[in-house]
Amino acid sequence: MDESASPDTTANAGEDINLLADEDFRLRFRAFLHAHYPLDMRQDYLRPFRRMNGAETRAWMSLVHQHGWRAPEWPREYGGLGLSFRKQRIYNEEMERIGVARMIDNGVTQLGPTLMKYGSAAQKQQYLPRILACDDYWAQGYSEPNAGSDLASLKTRADRQGDHFVVNGQKIWTTLAMEATHCYALVRTGNYDKKQKGISFLLIDLTLPGVDIRPIRHIAGEEELCEVFFSDVKVPTENLVGPLDDGWTVAKALLGHERIWLASPNLAIKAMMLAQQLVVETGSSDDQGVMDRLGQLLADLHDYRQWYEAICQRVEADEEVGAEASALKVYITELTQRITEFSVDIGDELGAITGPVEAGSTTTDLYWQLAMSRPGTIYAGCNEVQRDILAKSVLGLTP
Ligand SMILES: Cc1cc2nc3c(=O)[nH]c(=O)nc-3n(C[C@H](O)[C@H](O)[C@H](O)COP(=O)(O)OP(=O)(O)OC[C@H]3O[C@@H](n4cnc5c(N)ncnc54)[C@H](O)[C@@H]3O)c2cc1C
Repeated sequence: MDESASPDTTANAGEDINLLADEDFRLRFRAFLHAHYPLDMRQDYLRPFRRMNGAETRAWMSLVHQHGWRAPEWPREYGGLGLSFRKQRIYNEEMERIGVARMIDNGVTQLGPTLMKYGSAAQKQQYLPRILACDDYWAQGYSEPNAGSDLASLKTRADRQGDHFVVNGQKIWTTLAMEATHCYALVRTGNYDKKQKGISFLLIDLTLPGVDIRPIRHIAGEEELCEVFFSDVKVPTENLVGPLDDGWTVAKALLGHERIWLASPNLAIKAMMLAQQLVVETGSSDDQGVMDRLGQLLADLHDYRQWYEAICQRVEADEEVGAEASALKVYITELTQRITEFSVDIGDELGAITGPVEAGSTTTDLYWQLAMSRPGTIYAGCNEVQRDILAKSVLGLTP
């Protein structure tokens, strides 16, 4: 990555860039991305859903930090940009436009806002600057083998012994834990009739003795998820965030606009660009069935983009979005999957090959993109659970 600073591409630390006109802000951030984001890490036909690993994320985010562009949503008092929703949107649009790969940046998107709300002064002072500088890289340790959608059934225990908790148990599906330095975990510290009570929010250094991290290879052939085992891990009591036994409230706190960003149409747009290219490369445009299907997908994507735009405008106007965010998530993740299935179908035998393939003059990997579109309907709340939420809050149905 190019380390040289340029005055035109740096968000000046002393300046409130919220005061820039939207278009000036857009152009300045665009110039920064063009000057510094590596060409070979962009999303393209081969890797339309490209995601950075932990090391790439840390290297890129350090550079972003050095140039003053880190943490768009964080308040300025904590070292963020304190951007308005409108400018955060421009920020994301520009990254999507040039194909910046997706990043797992839990420190900025999840833990930071949680510490700002529930952390002690010492915790904020210790962790927030290290998150910004990428000195620490955080994994989320919530799910367990028998506690996913039903997260409150989690069993990993943290027993208090003097000035430590002793942690025993197992987490699973912990994204990039093998590259993380720390994880914020939900652990059981007490037993009550209501299972949400008795859970605490704990910060755990993953280099401590007794932590064992084992990567899991997923269907796209990559190791990005992990099992994390804790055997008598001694965690200082000062690492507890918020009240003991009330970590459920801490974890469920509303975390900024994350749900809106997760519902961005970006991946579906990237998948659609590939699908349209494939129609050309495979000479399928004479096939009425293929064109009907493509037309339907294009119309659905067009509708979704209008809907997403309308929701963003409501957020911008400070209106509550509520359960509609669940509907967005369900629609866009399933539409993305339908587009990848279409590409595999028209790619014919190319869709059955794992690894890069040549479709005419286009190098792609149809199986990879099909596989990489699968988890969207599972993480951040399974689509079935989102449908439960909609049934309850919109239709007034009870389970
Ligand atoms: C790519 C990826 C990354 C992830 N990263 C992390 C991470 O970093 N940290 C972390 O803690 N976790 C992570 N997870 C785990 C994720 O949060 C869980 O997979 C998710 O909560 C679902 O839990 P589960 O896998 O145990 O499935 P289950 O909850 O057991 O669900 C199994 C099936 O039952 C359905 N189901 C469950 N409950 C209901 C219901 N009430 N009504 C109708 N149907 C229901 C589900 O929709 C699903 O089809 C990740 C998952 C994925 C796929």
